[in-house]
Amino acid sequence: VTDERTRATDQALAALKAHGCRMTPQRRAIVSEIMQADGHIAPAELANRVQRKIPGINPATVYRTLGLLDELGILSHAHLGGGVEYHVARDSDHVHLICSNCGTTRSIPTSEIEPVITMIRASHGFLPDLTHFAIEGLCSDCRPRQTDKAKGA
Ligand SMILES: [Zn+2]
Ligand SMILES: [Zn+2]
Ligand SMILES: [Zn+2]
Repeated sequence: VTDERTRATDQALAALKAHGCRMTPQRRAIVSEIMQADGHIAPAELANRVQRKIPGINPATVYRTLGLLDELGILSHAHLGGGVEYHVARDSDHVHLICSNCGTTRSIPTSEIEPVITMIRASHGFLPDLTHFAIEGLCSDCRPRQTDKAKGA
């Protein structure tokens, strides 16, 4: 796994370089931190982590790097309740479920909602991308409570 991540970091750095980005030690450190991350990458959280390692780094540089890697297809983004989050592109084939009551986020593979996608495509000729925005609803913990009692109980 470590080798794989090192390779992913090298590929990301090569792509940025090919795109004309100046390679600084800071940029390398940011990219390495991004490519080591598991699952979702929240921009503010990532900026904090990078700042602990490299004091004085500008969070804007971290956000810009995330945006660039997204443009280059190395990352992809999704809109969750708290804002945009990024994933390594190969990990992006999932749908986010957000509980509108407690805020819990779950991910399910896109294949599980394939029938919905197929249905919308068949009846409307529209191919929905359900991975881009989170689907809001109630999680299994909140659902019975909300049905039994008034909201906020
Ligand atoms: Zn996700
Ligand atoms: Zn978007
Ligand atoms: Zn919930």
